[in-house]
Amino acid sequence: MPSEFDLIQRCFTRPTRHTVLGVGDDAALIAPAPGYELVVSTDMLVEGTHFFPDADPEDLGWKTLAVNVSDLAAMGAVPRWATLAIAAPPESTFDWMDAFARGFFACADAFKIDLIGGDTTRGARCFSVTIMGEVPTGKALRRAGARVGDQVWVSGTPGRAGRGLAHLQGSRNVMVAAECLAALHRPQPRVALGLALREIASAAIDISDGLLADLGHILVASGVAATLESLPDDADEYYLAGGDDYELLFTAAAARAPEITALGRILALSLTCIGRIEAGAANLRVLDSTGRDITPIRRGYDHFA
Ligand code: ADP
Ligand code: MG
Repeated sequence: MPSEFDLIQRCFTRPTRHTVLGVGDDAALIAPAPGYELVVSTDMLVEGTHFFPDADPEDLGWKTLAVNVSDLAAMGAVPRWATLAIAAPPESTFDWMDAFARGFFACADAFKIDLIGGDTTRGARCFSVTIMGEVPTGKALRRAGARVGDQVWVSGTPGRAGRGLAHLQGSRNVMVAAECLAALHRPQPRVALGLALREIASAAIDISDGLLADLGHILVASGVAATLESLPDDADEYYLAGGDDYELLFTAAAARAPEITALGRILALSLTCIGRIEAGAANLRVLDSTGRDITPIRRGYDHFA
């Protein structure tokens, strides 16, 4: 393994765009714009839990940052700064780290994020990012805003990443197209959608654990129930419970539907209304396209279940 200081210098030190002081001192300095709130989130990827030991390092670098960017997208925030804590086994090569850094900075450049610090240590392979961004004061999208009568919307095509994962795990009956593996390895955080939804959505969350599980979080936070009665014909278990897609799930008043449809066209992103919010205590009913109740037991992923 190259020295810690070489690694930081050669792989993880880049010029910054909007940072007072970046990598290299005891701490970084950032200056959020006046009138904005700082939005902060942390997500960790652990070998064996979130990725296979033979994962492609460049994809892994992209995904490590992308899953964090997705959390800020779900808040309606602009991602701006990130720190990166790395644990890596002593046999890690410079080439491996360099490829990881290439993927990480490809995502950082795509969203104009500055890497401003981190920590590098020996250990079982693990990556933890803390991401920071900005949202105009009071404008963040929260989980708690869904109201009775709102519609439930989802972006993109949930289920692709779950299908890609099942394929890699050897389910031969799972047909995968290239886009399923791309969804798994190179998730595309919906930042532009999150920003546009600030003025439209009543609540939002990104789908990391599974559509039903994450909708459940909105229902609990908002104190409401939901019925999904207009799911697409091909909404299967991967669609409902697959997770790892990093699409946005959001609620909005029914009167906003035309704006949302127009927004989908502008962003070239499919936005589908799949159900509605009702009164009740976090109850979630799922109907198939014939109206049959298929409310499933399995909703998604829970690390400690
Ligand atoms: P300290 O001993 O004060 O914690 P380090 O030697 O860990 O300092 O880090 C030196 C500098 O390099 C700090 O600015 C730190 O934020 C940065 N740094 C360390 N690891 C990483 C990393 N993986 N990515 C980005 N910056 C890092
Ligand atoms: Mg340190």
